[in-house]
Parts: sequence; C-alpha cells; structure tokens
Amino acid sequence: MRSPYATGFRYSTALYSITDKEPDQLHRVNHLRNRARKAGGASGPDGSIFSRANFDGSRKRDQEFLARLVEGWLNDDEGIYSLTDFLVQHTPVHSRKAGAVGVVTDYPLNESRSSYRWHTIIDLCHELMHVLAHPDLPAAADRIQAGQIVQEGFVEVLGLRVLQLAARRGEAVPDERLAQGSLERRKTPPRRSQTTATPATPRRRS
Ligand SMILES: [Zn+2]
Repeated sequence: MRSPYATGFRYSTALYSITDKEPDQLHRVNHLRNRARKAGGASGPDGSIFSRANFDGSRKRDQEFLARLVEGWLNDDEGIYSLTDFLVQHTPVHSRKAGAVGVVTDYPLNESRSSYRWHTIIDLCHELMHVLAHPDLPAAADRIQAGQIVQEGFVEVLGLRVLQLAARRGEAVPDERLAQGSLERRKTPPRRSQTTATPATPRRRS
C-alpha cells in the first residue's frame, strides 16, 4: 500500500501556515459542510436535525443537497462568507493528496502562550493521524451514515494517544528538548564535582 510512511513523509517540510493562506471556495464549502455535518448529526431531544429532516449522509443526493445548501449560504450572506474565511484561517487542516498540514499561526489574545503551544501540539498530533490514515478511509466514511465519527472521532482518539506516548517519552528528557521537538534520549553530561561547582550567589535581603 502506498502511504505517507512509504513515500518519505517529513512533517517539518509538510507544515505551512493556514492563517496566512487566502481561502478558496472549495475550502470554504468543505469547512462549512464539515461543521454542518457535526451540528446536523448531534443528538437533540427530538433526535438530530439530520434524522428529523430524513437526511442520510451515505446517500449521494443528500450529500450533494447539503453541498448546494452550504454554497447558497456562502453566496447569499456576506456575514457567513467573511466568518467562514476567518474560521478557515483559524482551523488546522490537512491535504491527503499533497501530504501537507496547515496550522494556525495567529496567537489569540484570550489564551496564554503556553496554552496556545499545547493546542498547537494537539493539533499536530490530530492532523498527523489524518495524513497517515488509510487512503480509502474518506471514501469509505462517505458510504456510511455516521461518516463524521469515523473520519474525525477515530482520528481525535488516536491523535491524543500519540500525544500521550510522546509526552511519556518526553518525561525522560528536559522540557527544553521536548519543546524543540527532539525527543531522542541523549547522554546526560557528567556532573560537576562538588569541589569545582560554582557556589550559588547568596541573595541579598533588604
Ligand atoms: Zn480532523
């Protein structure tokens, strides 16, 4: 099977800033359709919106109808159009064809820098799982009703598992190396002997 593993995928060269990229219409429609599937499939007191509207995500004509509906929103409502552009530029993305991963590079003012970094690391794990997924997965997910769960749910669980494994491995190395992305164990430099160590400068007390 041809997979990113077999074709020499390198994460560092696959990365780009989605925030700096001008969205195209296909990306806008895909983004809104993805969100519509999430909202439509969510269970409510009288069932999900999709079940009440008799929408079947595995039916070709229903998929096409949803795409047309979303495109209509985009073309007719300037507010939805500009909001979608903002959301597209602030949502991590992957391209299976190009093996590229777009990450958000806009640092939000309502989030601390460290929390933003952790979000980016979680996003990197999630998008990596998309890139490494079996090439037939998107088409197979389209043939079942709850394709969103297969496409996104599994990826999210596996991405968090990768993060856990990386963090556990990183526990053995200093934080600085983990932040740099270099998780290999390295030889710890020999300790300075007690006699040659520089004594700590005593703190002045006022
Ligand atoms: Zn995803």
